[in-house]
Amino acid sequence: MSSRKTLFITGVSSGLGNALAREALAAGHRVIGTVRSEAALQAFEALSPDQAHGVLLDVTDFERIDSVVAATQARHGPVDVLVNNAGYGHEGIFEESPLEEMRRQFDVNVFGAVAVTKAFVPYFRQRRAGHILNITSMGGTITMPGIAYYCASKFALEGISDTLSKELLPFNIFVTAVAPGSFRTDWAGRSMRRTPRSIADYDASFDPIRKAREEKSGKQPGNPQKAARAMLQLIDSPTPPAHLLLGSDALSLVRDKLSRAAREIDQWEALSRSTDD
Ligand code: NAP
Repeated sequence: MSSRKTLFITGVSSGLGNALAREALAAGHRVIGTVRSEAALQAFEALSPDQAHGVLLDVTDFERIDSVVAATQARHGPVDVLVNNAGYGHEGIFEESPLEEMRRQFDVNVFGAVAVTKAFVPYFRQRRAGHILNITSMGGTITMPGIAYYCASKFALEGISDTLSKELLPFNIFVTAVAPGSFRTDWAGRSMRRTPRSIADYDASFDPIRKAREEKSGKQPGNPQKAARAMLQLIDSPTPPAHLLLGSDALSLVRDKLSRAAREIDQWEALSRSTDD
C-alpha cells in the first residue's frame, strides 16, 4: 500500500466527496471531512470511528475557515492532501437567471474553495509538502447552454488552480484541477439550483436540455467509486499533473473543444498577428 496520508475533503455527505472518503479510508488513509449537518457528521464518522473525523463547515462561512483549519490540524496533526470538492450546479438561461444566483454560485464553487485553500497553504509551504485537488468540471473547459454561471465558476477555479500550481511547485506542493464528466451523484438532483423559466423565446432551445438533464440524473456514465480510486492514484503519484479529466465523456468533449479552438486560432492567425508593431 502507498504511504498513509491525512486528507481534508470538503463535502463528504454525498457524491464524489463521499466516495473519495470511503475509498481513502478503505485504503488506510485518514480523512477529515466537512459536512453541514449533525446527521451527516454522524453518518460520516460511522464509516470509521478511528479514521473518519467530521467537521461542521459551510464553505461560505468565510470568517470561520481559518480557525476551523487551525483547530483541525491542532487536533489531528498535519494534513497532507486538501480536496476542494464542495460545490453545486446552478442551471438557468443567462438572461433569466438573477445576478444573485451567480454570486451564490461563485461563493460556494470559487470563493469557498479559495478560502479553504488560503487557510492551508501556509502550513503546506512551511512543511514544503502538500497536494491540493480542486474538483472543477469538464464545464471548466467546455460550455453548454443553460449553465453559464456554473461553467464560469469552474473556469475560474481551473484558472486559479493552474496559476497556483506554478506558484507552489517551488515548495514541493502540487495542485491538480480534477475535471469530472457526468457522474452519478446528487449534482443534477437534490443539489442543483434551477432558475424557473420566464422567457418563452428560449422554450424551444432550452426546455429539452433541462428535461434531458433531469431524466439523466442518477443514470450518468461516471461511477463515483472509480473516480475516487483514480484520485487515490493521483495523490500517490510523485509527479501529479496540473489537470486530470475523469470520464470518457469529459475526454471526448474536452478534446473536441481544444481541437476546435486550435483550428479557429489557425483560421484567424493572420488577423491575430496583424496587431504587433
Ligand atoms: P453532490 O452529491 O451534490 O455533493 C456535493 C457536496 O458538496 C455535498 O456534500 C454538499 O453538502 C457539499 N456542499 C454543497 N454546498 C456546500 C457548501 N456551501 N458548503 C459546504 N459543503 C457544500 O454532488 P457531486 O457531484 O458529488 O459534487 C462534488 C463536486 O463535483 C462539485 O464541486 C461538483 O460541481 C463537481 N462535479 C460534479 C460532476 C457530476 O457529474 N457529478 C461533474 C463535474 C464536477 P450537503 O449534503 O450539505 O448539500
